[in-house]
Amino acid sequence: MSQVTVPGLVPQKDGSFAIYVEVPKGACPTAKDFQSLAQMMNELKCKVHITTAQKLMILDLDEERGKKALEYLAETNLYAKTALDLSQPRVCVGKPYCKLALQETFPLSETMMEKLAREPIARKIKVGIAGCPACCSWANVLDIGFVGVKSGFQVFIGGHGGARAKVGEKMGLITSHDQAVELVAKIAKLFRENVKIKSRLDRVIKKMGVEEFKKTVGL
Ligand code: SF4
Repeated sequence: MSQVTVPGLVPQKDGSFAIYVEVPKGACPTAKDFQSLAQMMNELKCKVHITTAQKLMILDLDEERGKKALEYLAETNLYAKTALDLSQPRVCVGKPYCKLALQETFPLSETMMEKLAREPIARKIKVGIAGCPACCSWANVLDIGFVGVKSGFQVFIGGHGGARAKVGEKMGLITSHDQAVELVAKIAKLFRENVKIKSRLDRVIKKMGVEEFKKTVGL
């Protein structure tokens, strides 16, 4: 199997490399971004897969074409994800588009990307934002979920998918974007400083105790 030589190039089982591309807001690359992607696909003969986490995955690259793809991406509003930073939140479309929505989702997602996109983190934290409790973006089964209610966003903590999927626990309500950003940043810090082995947030909370966790992150 190929070795990682360039941040952002992820070795695949078949010896090729892939690039995970973050799409701020989960929805809205600009027309220019699409043009750059189309040009890149033509020139580098790569595939673009849309992942379940609302990312783009550029496939079928060798190292040289991978470096060129990273150069293309640097000219766009899209981020090539490196291994150790926070991911874009998963978002549903929210207000004003969805009939059921109680909150807008794009502005919170944008704020989070602006303030935290390159926040280093040692372990995996997935964040979701939903415009209402229907949770189409699975915000209630991710490590940190913000679920729109009339008065703000209900916070769900410690959910995850996988073979033993788990719904997060309701741990409070936030009423501003700054509060959400601060919470995610504090949890990222907690991971950086205390989590030495591969772990998910629910296990960290179990070890710390819910009350201690809430106190640490200000919930
Ligand atoms: S979670 Fe609610 S607001 Fe978002 S798309 Fe689903 S129904 Fe609409």
